[in-house]
Amino acid sequence: MTATIDTDAAKAALTEDRDKVVRQLTEIGSDESGQLNGTIDFGDAFADAGAVTAERTKILGLAKTLKTRLDDIDAALTAIAEDRYGICERCGAPIGADRMAYRPTSRLCVRCKSSS
Ligand SMILES: [Zn+2]
Repeated sequence: MTATIDTDAAKAALTEDRDKVVRQLTEIGSDESGQLNGTIDFGDAFADAGAVTAERTKILGLAKTLKTRLDDIDAALTAIAEDRYGICERCGAPIGADRMAYRPTSRLCVRCKSSS
């Protein structure tokens, strides 16, 4: 009883998610590489340089998180295009439709994931 993965639905969801992540990156002044575009102008929002540095660190962390997500989404979209979506990258076993539905960017099966 192997439930098949609806790759069309997964692709639609991933594409939508990708747009969202790119939009978030744009909002924080980053491009798709996760790098910030020049300096961030905080205006008078923060009282001192320390607060600005803290805020900048926070934004860089967020950009990094979003960039990681973007990479995961792109990897999943590539896997769909190459007809290996839902296949564990390490052992080649099917990851399982339930797990893919729960987390569409899964690249490892539960067993490989828990041993990594
Ligand atoms: Zn595996």
